[in-house]
Amino acid sequence: LRGVVALDGPSGTGKTTVARTLADRLSAGYLDTGAMYRVVTLAVLRAGVDPAAADAVAEVAARISYEIGTDPSAPRMLLDGEEVSALIRGPEITHAVSPVSAVPKVREFLVAEQRRIIEGVLGTVGGVVVEGRDIGTVVTPDAPLKVFLTASAEIRAARRSAQDSAAGRQSTVDDARASVDRRDKLDSSRIASPLRAAEDAVEVDTSELSIDQVIVALSELACR
Ligand code: C5P
Repeated sequence: LRGVVALDGPSGTGKTTVARTLADRLSAGYLDTGAMYRVVTLAVLRAGVDPAAADAVAEVAARISYEIGTDPSAPRMLLDGEEVSALIRGPEITHAVSPVSAVPKVREFLVAEQRRIIEGVLGTVGGVVVEGRDIGTVVTPDAPLKVFLTASAEIRAARRSAQDSAAGRQSTVDDARASVDRRDKLDSSRIASPLRAAEDAVEVDTSELSIDQVIVALSELACR
């Protein structure tokens, strides 16, 4: 792959699996921007800061040091030197991440970092699959391929609940649905870079598709 594939969409659409597998198959790098917002959220909670206190949250974001891996087969996330890849998927983080990511200064800061990381990967590997909520609209609006993944609310909740169980977290489909709905409402209604498809994004409804079918479709689009 040459250049950037921007992959956006709400939670539970299969974005992460699709992005990682696609990057792997196309020998490209992979950037999980959601993991960056999650790491900031972990630091905010550890500092005892209220996720809704914008100034204090922005201060935490500016002072932490973190590293994000771009290898699709083993994406690593370090916060102040500590491996936090599993911790940032926990329910407390998932609950607090939307208010943290709605803080404009946090976004400003992370978008600059994301662009820097993307440039680095393009300079070495040549191609990168970037997943998030505002990749096609804000981070890399010039990406040659922008994809917006969707899926019905039922399917997204079922997928999220299965993922939670696989990770050893108890969650019913109803719990998962409430959590996914709440996050998508917050992500879509915030003032700073709300979740939405870029005008020129290809929308793919994954409700009736297997992961493999989505990957085949996207590989074809990416290699055109
Ligand atoms: O993709 P993931 O579920 O890990 O994203 C966690 C949260 O990070 C999202 O619910 C959203 O609030 C935020 N996010 C964002 N912009 C991105 C990626 C994630 O605001 N580009």
